[in-house]
Amino acid sequence: MTTTAPHPLVAGARRLADGLLAPSAQHVDQHVVPASHIDAVRRSGLLGVCAPEEYGGAGAPDPVAREVAEILAGACCSTWFVQTQHHTPVRLLTKAEPGLPARERLLRPLATGELLAGIAYAHVRSASRTPVRAATERGGVRFDGTVPWYTGWGLNDVMLLAGVTEADEVVFAFVDAREQPGLRPSPPLRLAALTAARTVSVKLDALWVPGDAVVLRTPREEFARLDLPRSTNTSPAVFGVARAALDLLGDTPDERRTADALRARLDEVRTRAYALADHPVPHEHVEERLALRTRAYDLLRAATAAAVVSGGGRATSLDSPAQRLAREGMFLLVQGQTAPVREAHLAALAGL
Ligand SMILES: Cc1cc2nc3c(=O)[nH]c(=O)nc-3n(C[C@H](O)[C@H](O)[C@H](O)COP(=O)(O)OP(=O)(O)OC[C@H]3O[C@@H](n4cnc5c(N)ncnc54)[C@H](O)[C@@H]3O)c2cc1C
Repeated sequence: MTTTAPHPLVAGARRLADGLLAPSAQHVDQHVVPASHIDAVRRSGLLGVCAPEEYGGAGAPDPVAREVAEILAGACCSTWFVQTQHHTPVRLLTKAEPGLPARERLLRPLATGELLAGIAYAHVRSASRTPVRAATERGGVRFDGTVPWYTGWGLNDVMLLAGVTEADEVVFAFVDAREQPGLRPSPPLRLAALTAARTVSVKLDALWVPGDAVVLRTPREEFARLDLPRSTNTSPAVFGVARAALDLLGDTPDERRTADALRARLDEVRTRAYALADHPVPHEHVEERLALRTRAYDLLRAATAAAVVSGGGRATSLDSPAQRLAREGMFLLVQGQTAPVREAHLAALAGL
């Protein structure tokens, strides 16, 4: 029998998960993701998993990035969530034109983990609301409005901020992730899950960003077209948290039977979802992608419910990983939710 050694970053993620993240996940859940966790992630090279090698990243293929995400999310969903924000700016800069000032200034420090990025852009996915306005001003961009969600405040170095112009263009620009004239964070939001991830809302009042910090300017319709496949694919975190929940089931025949059955179904959905994520035409098979995403949520709910049921009353104690994973699963139901995802999920829940 031949065995293939895991990719070094997968092995690194496993070491980080087993040695640091999983043992402290209960404590982190009730407090905050400590800067020392983020330092450990920086040192591990995982922030550059999908960044180009010529900029100091690992240039690893998507399956490696997904496996790393599963491992981190299953170990400590709050830490996974803080660091997962970083990969969107890295991918955006990687795809940007070589020579673009923001790319040349930021891609290397982001790829090596010298800088950590957060994102403030989910709000531009909403067609009906425009909570953040962008306007060209003095050779740069002026932002006004309220970012409803920004995770990693106090941990991130830079923020990828998006707003919408009068002409219905989406503008993405990098901003220092600190309080400054025109940018004021709320106190950390108190949430039923992932409070530890230091999520705030951010008030923007005539925040001016220089033109060389802009990384993308595109019509909102075009952005929605490019964004659609991204939001319809299943997040690897769903599989990571579901598996962590099933690992809590014990060794009685009842528990083993449930864990084995759910693991088999999860593996099947995972294989199909990842095959579609790798499909060369990202905007094809949207319905199937949505159906798999919804199915993965069903299995996630079943897995976390099984962990609670098998644990009995003590599973509801704040010391119990079962209740934490169930709350993290609840959060994953809405993470990255767009209108098509919401519609497909609600329809599936109605049994349509
Ligand atoms: C703890 C936490 C941290 C987060 N951190 C970040 C972050 O750091 N950066 C970031 O960018 N985002 C972040 N988000 C946002 C997150 O990824 C999702 O995008 C978001 O939770 C889902 O959307 P919403 O609640 O903002 O908007 P919703 O109002 O739920 O809208 C989601 C989508 O559904 C559509 N919709 C809503 N209501 C209706 C309706 N009645 N009929 C039809 N369509 C409808 C909207 O148009 C939109 O497209 C965070 C969310 C949470 C909960």
